[in-house]
Amino acid sequence: MLEEFKQVKVGIIPCNGEEIGEGTLTRFACRRVLDTLRPHDTVTICLPLFIAGDKGERNFAKAFPTITVDGCEKRCSQKSTERLSGRPKHAIVISELLKEHGLEPPQSRQALEEKDKAAVDLVAEEIARKVDEILEKG
Ligand code: SF4
Repeated sequence: MLEEFKQVKVGIIPCNGEEIGEGTLTRFACRRVLDTLRPHDTVTICLPLFIAGDKGERNFAKAFPTITVDGCEKRCSQKSTERLSGRPKHAIVISELLKEHGLEPPQSRQALEEKDKAAVDLVAEEIARKVDEILEKG
């Protein structure tokens, strides 16, 4: 994996939470950053593969800056990253971010509704801002 990344990229590590709406939001917001907002500056790291011991994923997270994105205060992604590779540059917790901005978490775990758009925008823009800070852009 390292060979593919001669330029510095930021690894985005979403928690993959399936059990609450915030976990769904985590995945949607991370995809927005990876596909649309910062496609040339970011790569995703698959948390299950990372935990399973994939050397490429772990080495990437050791060598390059990472942002963990967790649905709730249990911080599964942040804790795994700290244990297996090193401290992330930023650790975003969606439930805290939504509370700070007075937004409700999504009600559904399967799909987001129109009213959840503001929450996706907020989280995706926060991740993109942290990517820019790390790469000293903007
Ligand atoms: S951080 Fe919360 S939402 Fe994400 S996987 Fe862990 S328990 Fe689930």
